Amino acid sequence: MKYFDEIEKSARERNIPVMEKEGLEFLIQTFNEHQCHRCLEIGSAIGYSAMMMISNIDDFVVETIELDDARYLEAIQNIKEQQLEDQIEIHHDDALTFDINDLKYQEFDCLFIDAAKAQYQKFFEKYMPLVQKNGICIVDNLDFHGMIFDIDHIKNRNTKQLVKKIKRFKDWIFNHEEYQVTYYGIGDGICVIKRK
Ligand code: SAH
Ligand code: MG
Repeated sequence: MKYFDEIEKSARERNIPVMEKEGLEFLIQTFNEHQCHRCLEIGSAIGYSAMMMISNIDDFVVETIELDDARYLEAIQNIKEQQLEDQIEIHHDDALTFDINDLKYQEFDCLFIDAAKAQYQKFFEKYMPLVQKNGICIVDNLDFHGMIFDIDHIKNRNTKQLVKKIKRFKDWIFNHEEYQVTYYGIGDGICVIKRK
């Protein structure tokens, strides 16, 4: 695990928003409980969460999409160093415009959304249909450092807009008649979404 700790530390030092440890442990536990084996991840960053999943869940593969050039290249490097190429398929693209026909797998049992927060609903609508009937979706960073609970007091206009968008996604998904959503105040706020 030392190697992964170093990757996490190095990411934090460079303000790369890799998942918080608590949240990641929860995600791994949830995927294990649901006996998930194939994950689609939106937002790979440097491959940290994907590598952690592979290393902690039996018989697991991840297909993941990353927009940023430098992070994508670093992820490739990290995955190669750990010889996890067989289990992690990474795409360098914008998940909003990415052609789903380019995916290696056409069906998944779990979806992990961890990219641009303003686009959560779009990611969800585009990728949830690829998740099989009993599959689950996990979405991270729903609290936005607690700001979501106190939107009126946010001074910065852009931040306020972003937090409002996250709130809109939350309200939309929580009231969606097809999905059952459970929120957990772990890490930066996580929800687990299942079909009813
Ligand atoms: N899951 C990673 C952290 C991801 S951070 C981990 O825990 O290790 C979020 C990443 O999403 C960033 O690297 C950012 O470049 C990427 N991202 C943002 N918008 C995106 C988009 N539209 N398509 C693909 N990746 C995107
Ligand atoms: Mg995150």
